[in-house]
Amino acid sequence: MLELDKRSVTYLPGVGTRKAAVLKKEANIASYEDLLYYFPYKYIDRTHFYKVCEVNGDLPYIQLKGRILQFDTVGEGRSKRLVAKFSDGTGVIDLVWFKGLQYITDKYRPGVEYIIFGKPTEFGRLINIPHPEIDAIEQSDQVTGGMVPFYNTTEAMKKAFIHSRAIQDMQYALLSSLNWEMPETLPPHILSRTGMISLPEAMRNIHFPQSTEMLQKARLRLKFDELFYIQLNILRTADLRKRKLRGIVFPKVGHYFNTFYSKYLPFELTGAQKRVMHEIRADMGSGRQMNRLLQGDVGSGKTLVALLAMLLAVDNNYQACMMAPTEILAGQHLVTILSFLKDMDIKVALLTGSTKKKERNRILPAIATGEIQIVIGTHALIEKTVAFASLGLVIIDEQHRFGVEQRARLWTKDSTVPHVLVMTATPIPRTLAMTLYGDLDVSVIDELPPGRKPIKTLHRYDNKKAELYGFLRKEINLGRQAYIVYPLIEESEKTDYKNLEENYALFKEVFPEFSVSMVHGRMKPAEKEEEMQKFVSGKSQILMATTVIEVGVNVPNASVMVIESAERFGLSQLHQLRGRVGRGAEQSYCILVTSYKLSNETRKRLEIMVNSSDGFEIAEADLRLRGHGDLEGTRQSGEGLDLKIADLAADGQILQYARTIAQKVLEEDPELLSEANRTAAERLKALFSRKINFGMIS
Ligand code: ADP
Ligand code: MG
Repeated sequence: MLELDKRSVTYLPGVGTRKAAVLKKEANIASYEDLLYYFPYKYIDRTHFYKVCEVNGDLPYIQLKGRILQFDTVGEGRSKRLVAKFSDGTGVIDLVWFKGLQYITDKYRPGVEYIIFGKPTEFGRLINIPHPEIDAIEQSDQVTGGMVPFYNTTEAMKKAFIHSRAIQDMQYALLSSLNWEMPETLPPHILSRTGMISLPEAMRNIHFPQSTEMLQKARLRLKFDELFYIQLNILRTADLRKRKLRGIVFPKVGHYFNTFYSKYLPFELTGAQKRVMHEIRADMGSGRQMNRLLQGDVGSGKTLVALLAMLLAVDNNYQACMMAPTEILAGQHLVTILSFLKDMDIKVALLTGSTKKKERNRILPAIATGEIQIVIGTHALIEKTVAFASLGLVIIDEQHRFGVEQRARLWTKDSTVPHVLVMTATPIPRTLAMTLYGDLDVSVIDELPPGRKPIKTLHRYDNKKAELYGFLRKEINLGRQAYIVYPLIEESEKTDYKNLEENYALFKEVFPEFSVSMVHGRMKPAEKEEEMQKFVSGKSQILMATTVIEVGVNVPNASVMVIESAERFGLSQLHQLRGRVGRGAEQSYCILVTSYKLSNETRKRLEIMVNSSDGFEIAEADLRLRGHGDLEGTRQSGEGLDLKIADLAADGQILQYARTIAQKVLEEDPELLSEANRTAAERLKALFSRKINFGMIS
């Protein structure tokens, strides 16, 4: 059988080692298979010819039929360019090249009829077509037959002469050489059950659509294929785990839980928290390993649920650990948990990448003997050097960065398999949850602790600073505190820091009567801690910060959140930030400050924030606006979500269908051992075996 993933693109005509290296580096294309799955991002109708007299700068890519009248080289040095006067009898338009001038004048002749294809561009008052594609009229059948695919290319690819057209040619050569011998990726019974077209047919039509109808069918087939295997993988992983792993049983609710619950719990649990605790307890007593996703909006009280679950583990003589994505967050969890447990005799430790060696040498043995009962930390917790005496529960907070694969790694930490509770503060749209966490059971905290007033969200332009200062002064004089948050991203780190520092100086001048704190990632931990502490204890009224306060910080008296340059934040991030206020009894405000110039998309984002406080609704909108690739955290969530064609925002129905079919297949043949499912078993292995070692759990 032809193994497309083993055949290098260098076998294709015109692709040498240099081009192959660029393809690999820029687009991760090495094999025939990689190339086939490099899909066009759009198609352009090349059945229609424009007339030169109709051309204007607003048109998209167009094609013209006519002759080059003459070539001229104009300009000097960097602005040197080649201009061809091109005419079809209705007018004359300039074709312009800035690179490869010699190649063009050698290859094309004045007076010969050509088809040219390009994007008309306004250049001062003139319109020209820069770097058009040119084809001889005899080739018109090949180039003008319907829709032409467009492929993404990078600057480096273009420099190596790999533009969209070159990729199109490669695809054409590849598809012709395969001559319908492409191995099918779906078993025949699934093809007939679903009525999908075959893979070769889909591939031909996704690259060179015969018609819009066939293009639709090709898309559907390829999206289904992609989502089907993701679901099959997730469901099978979950199924294997359920059947092969025995869960630790926590039979009793004991001293620690009861003491805390009856004596030290500072408030009544909300109904939702109680319900979720019941679900968790049921899992932990079932004899199956718990794998549960706990979703709850910011401020819904997940940390407390986590703590109660950990106390249950400790009651049953097991250890528990809680893993956060960053050291700051881990530190904050430690503080929260220590303050809840301050009157109880229970050993808690913090372990992160920056835990000092001496401390490490103290903690690790105590974890190994079981003396330390609860460990809070970061990824450092799942390193090989950390051996638990009896790990019974793993809690993963703000999980996005833990994909199916990393969770799988937890299973091997110990011979007994701990229960796993994954907590997310960013509500995840259903489609995304099904894809990232389709192997987990789901609990939802859909109720905020009582007494919280909805936060008022306002959008203000940054030329209205005086009003903003007036508002802040008024609120602070009422006894409240305020956060002022500034964006910070790697690309503009320097100016971002400068901006924060300058504003800090400005605020101290504007508000001489108040104390202003500042925290950011470049400060020493001790310094940061001190500034934070000033705000937490109420000594300072204003906290100016980069996004470090995004998650975790809890100051109920802070009732104003000002987000500067709000246009630079994603929706989920804005929602997270807003969740820092509205924790006390006072009316809270979130003020989104932006410049006047905003794109339509940004305006929509801000509108959603102003109108909605529902995390799920916001997450759905975020997915729609930005696509899953850009969603907070999904980039790090691992290879599992490198979707090539499916779109989680738009393809919810296909996803649900793919999941249903995958469920049916596994019901009939849980181990995928039948001959009928051989294709599926092989495909699954090829796609995921590098990531999950199924041997681990058998
Ligand atoms: P999350 O982690 O879900 O964003 P937290 O666990 O940080 O939320 O809880 C937010 C705040 O609400 C904390 O101050 C916490 O102590 C408080 N809280 C949690 N549960 C309750 C409850 N049942 N009643 C009152 N306050 C609560
Ligand atoms: Mg939290």
